Amino acid sequence: MQYFLIVLFGLLIGSFLNVCIYRLPRGESLLFPPSHCMSCSRRLKPLDLIPVVSFILLGGKCRYCGTPFSSRYIVVELLTACLYIGCLLIFGLSAGLIRSLIFVSFLIVITFIDYDHQLILDKVLIWFAGAGVLINWITGSLPLGNMVLAALLGGGLLLLVAVVSRGGMGGGDVKFAAALGLWLGWQLTLLALLLSFFLGGLGGAILMLLKIKGRKDFIPFGPFIALGAFISLLYGYRILAWYLANFLR
Ligand SMILES: [Zn+2]
Repeated sequence: MQYFLIVLFGLLIGSFLNVCIYRLPRGESLLFPPSHCMSCSRRLKPLDLIPVVSFILLGGKCRYCGTPFSSRYIVVELLTACLYIGCLLIFGLSAGLIRSLIFVSFLIVITFIDYDHQLILDKVLIWFAGAGVLINWITGSLPLGNMVLAALLGGGLLLLVAVVSRGGMGGGDVKFAAALGLWLGWQLTLLALLLSFFLGGLGGAILMLLKIKGRKDFIPFGPFIALGAFISLLYGYRILAWYLANFLR
């Protein structure tokens, strides 16, 4: 039952995240106007707002003009639901679950805006950072000193990489890493960034092998930081414990 509820909740929130991903970079309000068909501008009914449901009922088309909705909307919703299930599996019904769901939701918005626009928005990062400090404070997850240290460490590390790589990494990535520190503390932040370098290198190689991207094409790094952060949030302490047990005797 709880899995059914988390999937439903994930689809609903995913629908809202789609709105954030589309409107925030365009400077549009999240609330007004209400969701409408991009083609005929007619307002969508509540059930149409959940593309997965509307896809099953209407074949993924506008009920008025028949224009198909972008498959992106369904991808984001299903992804949200899947990641929410992952969080439930790891954290169970706990305060940690709520913390992880909020964290993951921000990661999805940051990832897709960066993918679309090669941009990590300051306004999103400010909300992300603020939510992290607030939630860690309320749940007593992290001491403030650890958060500040982690923000300096994460931001500093990527700033160094940005300077050395001369443009391979943007200011948005640096600020994103600093905000991550406020959420994760210094151990998991370092792990998240190491994972993101590894995944970014691997992802870049695969994209070039498949000829989706050329050697000189820009590949946004934000999605890889987000992926590293997600893995670190779910499995970070287990990975660290395994590492300490096997390599640091
Ligand atoms: Zn329409």
